[in-house]
Amino acid sequence: MTQLRELTEEARTDCPAPLESSIKGAVIYPGDPDYDTARTPWNLVFDQHPELIVIAHDADDIAAAVCYAAEHDLGVSVQATGHGMRTPADDALLIRTSQMTGVEVDPVTQTAWVEAGAKWAHVLEAAQAHGLAPLLGSSPDVGAVGYTLGGGIGWLARKHGLAADSALAFDVVTADGRQLHVSEQEQSDLFWGLRGGGGSLAIVTRMKIRLYPVTTVYAGNLLYPAEMARDVMARYRDWIPTLPDEMTSSVVLLNVPPLPIMPEPLRGKSFAVVRGCYTGDLEAGAALIDDWRRWQPPAIDMFGPMPFSQSAAISQDPEDPTPAVVTGAWLSNLDEAASEALTRFTLPQDGPPLIVFSEVRHIGGAVSRGDVGGAAYGSRDAELLLEVVSIAPTPEIAGAARSHIAAMMAALGPAQSGKVYMNFMEGQEAHERIADGFSPESFQRLRQLKRAWDPGNRLRYGFAITPLP
Ligand SMILES: Cc1cc2nc3c(=O)[nH]c(=O)nc-3n(C[C@H](O)[C@H](O)[C@H](O)COP(=O)(O)OP(=O)(O)OC[C@H]3O[C@@H](n4cnc5c(N)ncnc54)[C@H](O)[C@@H]3O)c2cc1C
Repeated sequence: MTQLRELTEEARTDCPAPLESSIKGAVIYPGDPDYDTARTPWNLVFDQHPELIVIAHDADDIAAAVCYAAEHDLGVSVQATGHGMRTPADDALLIRTSQMTGVEVDPVTQTAWVEAGAKWAHVLEAAQAHGLAPLLGSSPDVGAVGYTLGGGIGWLARKHGLAADSALAFDVVTADGRQLHVSEQEQSDLFWGLRGGGGSLAIVTRMKIRLYPVTTVYAGNLLYPAEMARDVMARYRDWIPTLPDEMTSSVVLLNVPPLPIMPEPLRGKSFAVVRGCYTGDLEAGAALIDDWRRWQPPAIDMFGPMPFSQSAAISQDPEDPTPAVVTGAWLSNLDEAASEALTRFTLPQDGPPLIVFSEVRHIGGAVSRGDVGGAAYGSRDAELLLEVVSIAPTPEIAGAARSHIAAMMAALGPAQSGKVYMNFMEGQEAHERIADGFSPESFQRLRQLKRAWDPGNRLRYGFAITPLP
């Protein structure tokens, strides 16, 4: 993996010019043959047209790009995969880190250094070779750094906490081009802000994370017919307070698209799904799921022992670039009215549904026990996290999906706590709801940090944290 050669603490004033000959990566301009490929994010709902794109090879390339942007008064956007689009990088210098995929695992200390562009799949593969696991989420295709900066809630969350809580250090390039090491001991204010506050304070070139011994889990899905949705949700509500931290689970209302690539027993059908991952004694995990099997046999039973390296099979998120409208909210309860609203708006009533799935994840556990003031991440006390996804191949369908989801959110009314999880916020909504992602104190502190680290708001394409005046 590419190492930072030397961390420089001086603000860069003399940019090497021209940019293309001073970096090891590539510079791509509008009209170049690779421009469209390089500018296209994973989430195809967003269409961005950067002024130029730097395909970074290492931290020095990123520092040179930031310097160039300062000289030309351009905003800087940084993306690994384009899974988490907040503001499209229009008219910006877009740094793509997708080639910086190095991962170095230290099995003795159970830690790993992860470069900015590594997807969770890269980290998972390297860690599982030593019987270790990172705290990835539902999709190994997501960028490890972007996910961690937003908090990071995955299938081991109740047992091992947020990914951000397991971040031990970051190497960064600041908005004025300095390369710094950031940890609990060095630049501790920035360390606080990067753990949950997103990537608007500095550009991370690599991060050091803690890994956990996890090899085989008891995981999967129980699919019940859609007609049972209200009963499944009522039972789920009663079940989760009884669960140990080893079990992280969710209840999902799912419409399987009628596409030939879908397995025949699922194609075109709707289900209420109990989904989860138990880390620990496999028999104890099986016993928890056997309760459901005894209650009502599912139409399809896909729960069982699973190598954690295969944990993508739990959610089966799409890998290929996809046009998706995504939103979410913390819920304060999943009472009958909330279950009714989710069912009515997600499952088909008189026509095809716009929503592919609504998922309520059960969090709490180690996430709630994390140090409240120790990181910027908000909403530690919240236990129920709603995520809603709709596939939107055209702008018209995207508009219709947003209206439909807005009506669902209105119907959910008081079941919403008023707080959001910023990793599930995208586009305009991510701007409008930014303050709801944090406690008022943390949001204020993030804005102070923004004033200190990026007063000109050059890094303005991630979480919309504006510098305090
Ligand atoms: C299919 C899917 C499944 C998901 N599952 C989960 C899940 O289970 N749990 C969960 O918590 N989240 C989940 N997410 C949300 C995901 O964590 C966020 O969208 C995250 O921001 C994606 O990071 P990325 O680098 O892949 O995306 P990108 O779009 O490349 O980056 C997103 C943002 O992260 C910041 N960023 C990225 N790299 C850097 C860097 N090197 N330095 C500074 N800032 C940076 C930037 O602000 C950027 O705008 C999921 C998203 C999708 C689309």
